[in-house]
Amino acid sequence: MFSLQLAVSLVKNVSLILSLVFIFGLLVPSLRHRRASTQAVIYGVLYGLLGVMLMLSPTEVGPGFFVDGRSIIITIAGAFGGLIPALITTVMMSTARWLLGGEGAIGGIGAIVILASVGCAVHLYHHRRGILIARRTLVILSAVATAVPLITLWIVAGREVALMSAVPYLAVVPLGMILFGYLLLRQKHQFDIEEALQESEERYRSVVDAMTEGVIVRNAAGVVQAANLSALRVLDVSMEEMQSRAVDDPRWGIICEDGSPFPMDHAPSMTALRTGKPQFGQVLGFQKAGGSVTWLLMNAQPLFKAGNTQPYAVVVTFTDVTELKSAHQSLIQERDLLRTLIDSTPDYIFIKDSSGRFILSNEAHAHAVHVSADALVGKTAFDVFPEGLAAQFHADDLATMQSGEPQFNLERTTLGDQGNLKTVLTTKVPLHGRDGRVIGLVGMSRDITDRKLVEQQSLELVAERERVHVLRRFLADMSHDFRTPLAVVNTSLYLLQKSTDPQRQADQIEKIESQVQRMEQLLGELLDMDRLDRENPEPVFVPVAINTMVAELVRNLEAAAEENHHTLAIDLNHEVPPIMGNAAQLQQALEHILQNAVDYTPTGGAVTVRTSVQHNHVLIAVEDTGIGIGPDDLPHIFERFYRADQARSADSGGSGLGLSIARKVIEAHGGDIVVSSTPGKGSVFVIRLPIQATSTDHDTTAVVRSVG
Ligand code: ADP
Repeated sequence: MFSLQLAVSLVKNVSLILSLVFIFGLLVPSLRHRRASTQAVIYGVLYGLLGVMLMLSPTEVGPGFFVDGRSIIITIAGAFGGLIPALITTVMMSTARWLLGGEGAIGGIGAIVILASVGCAVHLYHHRRGILIARRTLVILSAVATAVPLITLWIVAGREVALMSAVPYLAVVPLGMILFGYLLLRQKHQFDIEEALQESEERYRSVVDAMTEGVIVRNAAGVVQAANLSALRVLDVSMEEMQSRAVDDPRWGIICEDGSPFPMDHAPSMTALRTGKPQFGQVLGFQKAGGSVTWLLMNAQPLFKAGNTQPYAVVVTFTDVTELKSAHQSLIQERDLLRTLIDSTPDYIFIKDSSGRFILSNEAHAHAVHVSADALVGKTAFDVFPEGLAAQFHADDLATMQSGEPQFNLERTTLGDQGNLKTVLTTKVPLHGRDGRVIGLVGMSRDITDRKLVEQQSLELVAERERVHVLRRFLADMSHDFRTPLAVVNTSLYLLQKSTDPQRQADQIEKIESQVQRMEQLLGELLDMDRLDRENPEPVFVPVAINTMVAELVRNLEAAAEENHHTLAIDLNHEVPPIMGNAAQLQQALEHILQNAVDYTPTGGAVTVRTSVQHNHVLIAVEDTGIGIGPDDLPHIFERFYRADQARSADSGGSGLGLSIARKVIEAHGGDIVVSSTPGKGSVFVIRLPIQATSTDHDTTAVVRSVG
C-alpha cells in the first residue's frame, strides 16, 4: 500500500520532470545566443526550482525520511548542465532539504552532493572529449541515481525503510531517469542539427552575397524568390522592385547584342522553365534610364523536385560583361585597323608558327601564291611555293628560329602575283613566348625587282660609258700611234722626191721602212689581242720547257742589249719542270716583258731573268734597273693601250698592248703576273705559272749568260 503510494508519488515526480524537457524545448532556442555562463545559471536555477518543487511534495517513508525524484534532477543537472548548474541545483536542493528537516536531512544532502559530483564527473569526461553522453552511460547514471538514495536510506534509516522504498524506487527512478536523459539528448541533437542547418544557410547566403556574379531564383511562375546583393547592384534595383517586376516587364529595357528589343519568351529563365534544359552564355543588354547599357552574360539552371520532370524553380546567374564587351570591341577595332594596314601594303607580311605553318598572311602575300589569306593559314611554304624557293625560305626560317636572332634584308627570289619571279629583301624576326622560347617568326618581304633593274641598268650604263671612254682613248692613241710614223713616211717621201743624192735617198727609204715596220708591229699586236679575245676557252696545252724558252728569248735580245750597253743576265733553276701550256703564246708574253725591260732601261743598265719553283708554280722574274713606273701609272699598265707619260717621252716605240697581251696569256694558263717598281731605280715583273700535275720531266736547261 505504502509502496504503491510511493510509486504514484514518484510517477508524479517523473511527469513533473518531463515537463522540464518541454520548458527546455521552449527556452533553448532563445537562450542559444546568450553567454555560456548566463545559460549555465538559467539552467541551474531551472533544475534547482524543479528539484525544490519535487522535494516540496515528498513521500515520507519513515520519520524524517523522504523519498522523491530529486536524484534524477541532480544527476541530470550535473551530467547535462555541468559544474555551475549542478552547483546551483545542489545549493537550492540542499537548502530545501535542510529546511524540510528531519533525521534524514544530512543523509539526503549527502546523497544530493554525491549525485551532483557523479553527474559533473560524467559531464567533464564527455566535455573534454567533445562527445555526447551515450545511452549506455545513461543506464549507468540511472543505476547510480537509484542506488545512492537507497544506500543512503539503508545507512541512515535502516534496512527496513530502505527495502520498503526499493521496489517503487527501482520501478520508477531508473525509467524516469533514462526517459528524461533520452529526451534531453534527442532535444540537444535536434537543436544541434537546427543550429548546423542555420549556420550552413547563413554561410551559403554570405557566399552567394559575396559573389560578384548575380544570382536570382525564380519560381515556376517566374516570380523572384531570392536574389543576392550582386544581382541587385548589377541590375540597379531594390529587392522590392526586383520582386514586383515580371520577367517581361518593359522597365528592364532588355535588348539583343545588335540593339534590337529582346524577345522575352526567349529569356534564359523562361526557356529553362519551359524546356527544363539549362541555358548557357546568352548575352543580353539592360538599358538603364540614362540610356547606358549594362551587358550581362546569363546562364539559367532549372531546379527539379525528386521524381518531377517539370522544374519548380530556376536559378539565373549572370556576370556584368560591359567592360569586357567594350574591351573586346576595341580589340576588334584594333585588329581590323591592323588588318587594313597590313593588307594595304604591297610588301609581303606573314607570321609563321614554330613548325613553319602560316598563322597570318597579308593580302599581297596571299595574292602572290593565288590563295586567300584565310586559306593560307595552316599551310607551309612547301604547300604554296615551288620546291626550290620553299627550301630556301625554310632554311631562312630555321636560321631565324634556331639562332633566336632576327635576319635582316636577305635578298631572295620569290613569286610575284603574275607568277613571275621577283627579287625581295626579306627580314625575319623570331617570336618569343612568355617563357622566352621561340614560338614562330614574323616575316616581311619588300619587292626590290625594279630597284635591282635600275641598279643593273645604271651599272650597264657605267660600263657602257667606260667602253666608250676606252674606245675614244683607243682611237686617240691609235691615231697618234699611226700618225707619227705616217708623218715620218710623208716627210721622207717628200724629201725622197726632192732629193737626187743617192745617199740621202737611201736614208729616207730606210726611215720609211722602219716606220712601216713599226706600223706593222702595231697592227700585229692589235691582231694578237683580237685573236686572244676570241680564243677557244679550252685550249690544248702541251709540255713547255720554260728554261729553254727563256734562254732562247734572252739570246734573241742579245744584239739589242749589246747596242745599248746593257748587262743581260739569266739565272735558271735546274729544278724547273716543263709546264702544260701554249708555247707560242707564252713565248709572245715573255717577249713583251723582256722587251719592255730592255726598252725602259737606259744605256749601261742591267736586265736579269730568273726562274724558280714555288708551291707547284714556276716563277719567272724579270728585273731591270730602268726608269721604273710611278705609283699613279702602276695600277694601269696592264690596261690596253696604256702607256705611262714617261714611256711616251722615252719613245720606246711601244703600242701599250704588250702587257695586256702578256697578262691575258698568263691568266689563260691559270697563272698571274705581279709588278713592283721604284721610279728611277727599276722594276721587277714576276710571272707565276702553275705546274700541271701530269708534268714530271724536269727541264734540265741551265744557262747563265751575261752580255755587256
Ligand atoms: P708598250 O708597248 O708601251 O711598252 P706595254 O703594255 O708593254 O706597252 O707597257 C705599258 C706601259 O708600262 C709602258 O708604256 C710603260 O710605261 C710601262 N712599262 C712596262 N714595262 C716597263 C718597265 N720594265 N720599266 C718601266 N716601265 C715599264
